[in-house]
Amino acid sequence: MKKKTSLIAEQMSGQRKQLVMLTILSLLLGIAIVSQAGLLAEAVQRVFVEKASLSSVALLLALLLSVMAIRTLLSYGNGRVGLLMAASAKANMRSAVLQKLTRASMPSTLQGQTGGKVSVALDAVDEADSYFSHYMPRMVEAAIIPVLILIVTFILHANTGFILLFTAPFIPLFMILVGLQTKNKSEEKYAQLAEFSATFLDSLQGLVTLKIFGQARRQQQRIERSSLGYRDATMDILKVAFTNTFMLESIVMLSIGIVALELAIQLLVFKSMPFHTAFLVLLLVPEFFNLLKNTGTAFHSGRTSMGAVRKVEHMLAETNDSSGTQPAEVQKSVAKLLPAPPSMELNDIHFHYAPGSFELKAGTISIKPGENVAIVGKSGSGKTTLLHLFAGLLKPVSGTVRVNGSPLGQLDENAWFEQVSYITQHPYIFAGTLADNITIGAGRNITRDEIWQAAEDAGLAPLVAQLEQGLDTFVGEGGRGLSGGEKQRLALARAFLKRPALILFDEPTVGLDLQTEQILQSSITVLANNATMITVAHRLYTIRQADHILFMDHGKLAASGVHDELLECIPQYAEMVDIQRKGGSA
Ligand code: ADP
Repeated sequence: MKKKTSLIAEQMSGQRKQLVMLTILSLLLGIAIVSQAGLLAEAVQRVFVEKASLSSVALLLALLLSVMAIRTLLSYGNGRVGLLMAASAKANMRSAVLQKLTRASMPSTLQGQTGGKVSVALDAVDEADSYFSHYMPRMVEAAIIPVLILIVTFILHANTGFILLFTAPFIPLFMILVGLQTKNKSEEKYAQLAEFSATFLDSLQGLVTLKIFGQARRQQQRIERSSLGYRDATMDILKVAFTNTFMLESIVMLSIGIVALELAIQLLVFKSMPFHTAFLVLLLVPEFFNLLKNTGTAFHSGRTSMGAVRKVEHMLAETNDSSGTQPAEVQKSVAKLLPAPPSMELNDIHFHYAPGSFELKAGTISIKPGENVAIVGKSGSGKTTLLHLFAGLLKPVSGTVRVNGSPLGQLDENAWFEQVSYITQHPYIFAGTLADNITIGAGRNITRDEIWQAAEDAGLAPLVAQLEQGLDTFVGEGGRGLSGGEKQRLALARAFLKRPALILFDEPTVGLDLQTEQILQSSITVLANNATMITVAHRLYTIRQADHILFMDHGKLAASGVHDELLECIPQYAEMVDIQRKGGSA
């Protein structure tokens, strides 16, 4: 609740000038409304009651017309200020969301569905628009103009003033009741929309896989269900909104009716009131209720926006936890710790993705600077999880990961990842040129020669030489147009530019062609000369080459040592190696 007001309040405090502008415009608008009614009543009094000629009221009518024009201009001005406020608030919120997403710590970046995040960044921020463009201007108007009209009415005819005073509170009261209901519904709507977007984007990204497995139809049904859920949530809100409008109209009609009746009795029965005053009051009363009614509608859209703002806040709060708030001395120490190949140590590590699911207990592991370590084990034994713990991509539930003796959790994330290269089995290739993709993450200005050298070192040169546009060849999103082996080599070229102190390598499980394997092997060896290297190893060659093997079994570190040792002492290890040999992956 406290948080909710904070984002809006933050946006509002940046918009004080506009708020003052709104207040001034609303005050002028109030004066224009009262003057318009006054002038109209005067003209009608003169023409119809005093039977004055039309020409004698020409000046009055001209004045009336200009007041009407001014009123229109002021309304327009109010709307414009609202739009400006909305535009700047949206820009601020969107940049806050993007900043959080880009600066979020690695573990939180990996959480959640991309579609859901996109939906917050685009749709939820858009929906926040009406809070500033509609709700705020109406609220400022509602705080000023009805009060002004009420004062004028009291001065003209106190009885009517009392009727207004007694009936008016029904409107906000009713709005609050309905608003509370829509608020929950609109939050629900956002949950539905986020789910819909997430399902939709996931399905689009995995369309080929879905088709191959004949699941496209089922996914279509899932999307349909998700979209129907969103529709229902929207319809629920509309239902409340329409009922709200109906009830508001009824209250307003009834109140104006009571005022009209009272005025008629005063005017005709008691003859205690001049026509001019009665007419003026009758003109002002609908204006009064109209304003309150508009506030009702604005209140409703304001509530809907609140749901959206809440969603944005939620996301900002979620990713807030560890976005670069370490003290400066700790940040600096990363530079001191690295880039020389670091030692790494895991102490009493315990990790699980969710309580009750897969558990990893690695105990204590020490890796010396420059060592070449292989993590081996059956599929699902926790090799990748362990690698991610070393990388700091996952945070242990208990225990510490240390780099050169310092806890990894205390290092600045950006500085840490500047020293680490993680070569996954499926490196992500962005839509852009080969050169762009190689230079990504180098963290400094790169010359063309350096890119060439990196491509050469990674065994990409023959491929680049074949391409008409060489390094400037455009590759599609996700590396469309590149083979698996080529993507791996591109990832290696990135690592060559970076010259990392720590290399994490998830070795390809399945068949790259022999030549690619040899290129990868020799490139990795060169890279590893100046780095500590931890590999999730599948090939016997890699395992044999390792200085130190970590053998994982059902989430536990079952043994560690060199190949021959393990082969002799650990039967499960020997069995696994045997299977691997037979599988022909060595
Ligand atoms: P390996 O690399 O040895 O094949 P992993 O470390 O990838 O094994 O996985 C170990 C276990 O953790 C598996 O049971 C897997 O299902 C589970 N797991 C992996 N990633 C996640 C995740 N992001 N969320 C939940 N469970 C996961």
